[in-house]
Amino acid sequence: MIEFPDLPYAKDALAPVISARTLEFHHGKHHKKYVETANQIIAGTELENEPLETIVKKAAADPAKTALFNNAAQVWNHNFYWQCLKHGGGGAPTGAVASKIKEVWGSPEKFFEELKNAGVSQFGSGYAWLVLEGGGLKVTKTANADNPLVHGQKPLLAIDVWEHAYYLDYQNLRADYLSAVIDKLINWDFVNSCLAS
Ligand code: MN
Repeated sequence: MIEFPDLPYAKDALAPVISARTLEFHHGKHHKKYVETANQIIAGTELENEPLETIVKKAAADPAKTALFNNAAQVWNHNFYWQCLKHGGGGAPTGAVASKIKEVWGSPEKFFEELKNAGVSQFGSGYAWLVLEGGGLKVTKTANADNPLVHGQKPLLAIDVWEHAYYLDYQNLRADYLSAVIDKLINWDFVNSCLAS
């Protein structure tokens, strides 16, 4: 049984960057539906009591389990995305990840530019990510439910660029949503905790 976690903050905590109405739909309808559908698929199967990460990896490895992968990975992605954001976050990276970003990109600005480009250039639905791969940091993008975990990468930061993540607040202006999240919401403590884990 896959859990449907509460948001780690109040629904209006990320406003005005992400409105309470967006979170009401994004968490309360979209995220919830992914949990319900994934649970329907695993009910009575050998995956029923497996941890979510195991379900995601096993479904990714089995072409007959595409629907399960899509829904279970979307649960994982949303559980992760909520934690990547916080009221009063954003701006310059802090802690150990700040040093690593400086090593790779030279400055936070260059890193943000690449992260934003990844999100803007993702055609259709998906995510922009900061991941750890072979000990080094890398910016990536994935389509739909796809997730770095199944590509041998460790996710450190995710920004959801599905239209449901920003359309109520920014309409078609995905770049404005990405800039606002980067400037005001990234939870660097969480990113550092992922790096350390
Ligand atoms: Mn989403």
